[in-house]
Amino acid sequence: MLNRRQFVYAAAAAAASFARVTDVLAAPASFDLIIKGGRVIDPSLRLDAIRDVAIAGGRIAAVEANVAGDAAATFDARGRIVVPGLLDIHTHAARVKDGPSLCLADGVTGFIDAGSQGADRINEPIAVARSAPQPCRVLINIGRAGILPEGDTMDIARADVGAARDAIAKNRDIIAGVKARLSRDVAGANDYEVLKRAQEVVAPFNLPVMIHMGQTVSPLPRLFDLLKPGDVVTHMFAPPPNSIIDENGRILPEVLAARRRGVWFDLGNGRTGHLRWDIVERVMREGFWPDTFSTDWTPEARTVQVFDFPNVMSKFLDFGMPLDQVIARATVNASRVFPVFQDRGTLNVGAPADVAVLELRQGSFEFVDNYGNKRTGGQRLFPGGTVLGGKRVPPRA
Ligand SMILES: [Zn+2]
Repeated sequence: MLNRRQFVYAAAAAAASFARVTDVLAAPASFDLIIKGGRVIDPSLRLDAIRDVAIAGGRIAAVEANVAGDAAATFDARGRIVVPGLLDIHTHAARVKDGPSLCLADGVTGFIDAGSQGADRINEPIAVARSAPQPCRVLINIGRAGILPEGDTMDIARADVGAARDAIAKNRDIIAGVKARLSRDVAGANDYEVLKRAQEVVAPFNLPVMIHMGQTVSPLPRLFDLLKPGDVVTHMFAPPPNSIIDENGRILPEVLAARRRGVWFDLGNGRTGHLRWDIVERVMREGFWPDTFSTDWTPEARTVQVFDFPNVMSKFLDFGMPLDQVIARATVNASRVFPVFQDRGTLNVGAPADVAVLELRQGSFEFVDNYGNKRTGGQRLFPGGTVLGGKRVPPRA
């Protein structure tokens, strides 16, 4: 029960807030930015229609056919596609200082730097992540010396559980999990032990492990035994040995079981050993679509194969994936994988106003896999503008 004094106070507060509400209703709406007339595709809202997107106070304020009201700025998006800001769960954008701003201009409003460094030099990507304009997190490489030409964990002593745990404990706010690269040329015959140690590292922190699969010494079913719900398998289209399909083109039962228990399957485009068109074709034919798309972006990949996230997404339009499904894999699906993105990947009213504007061009476009094989596609998405936290980002140079 409220006593008299509390009652008076509560009644006054209610009256005051009622007055504020009526003031707002009486005044004409005024926004910071309206993105006008684009084709808004937001799989989280099951929306695909011409809409205005109005933004106020850094958040989505309205998504309507014709938003009435003033705006400090407008962004003419007619003829373009307007989607939630893209979330790239496997990049190396924190490897260089300007990485975050380069991919921001491509529409990437959130990313995970996946294993660029191990415990010895984890402070480097963490510093880049902390100063990045968009939300980003870092996966620590289980190999304490990071990515090595001779193989991150070829010397098993480098898979140092104590060092990785210390680094996570000191940087709980930025380190979102562990990356374990398991290919023959990275871990050799240590792959199983490396993954076991990666799980040991994350156990006390309740964090995921992302494995880089493909061309492993150990058979995939043995490795997948160690994956728990919430873990991520990247490079899911890696060709044999130890691909996710068998010689007859069937998805391995252990792969299907992993998905059923909540392991995520991610593209990880990259440049070497991860993506071959015939494997993509067979896996897609089996109906085993990626949960998420990601670029495995590096500064070098800006001019070959990867280029930018919209280009990576475009490759799947020609494998029979509808445009809204392609967009889901770079937005709402990715938002479910890492908690840092939990209120993103959507244009829902109230969500942070992170928006990617894309151009879908028709024509003849060449896409190259990691083995030099070319495919020609009839359409390609291009970056067409980014809004981060309600503010327009300067376009890509
Ligand atoms: Zn990578």
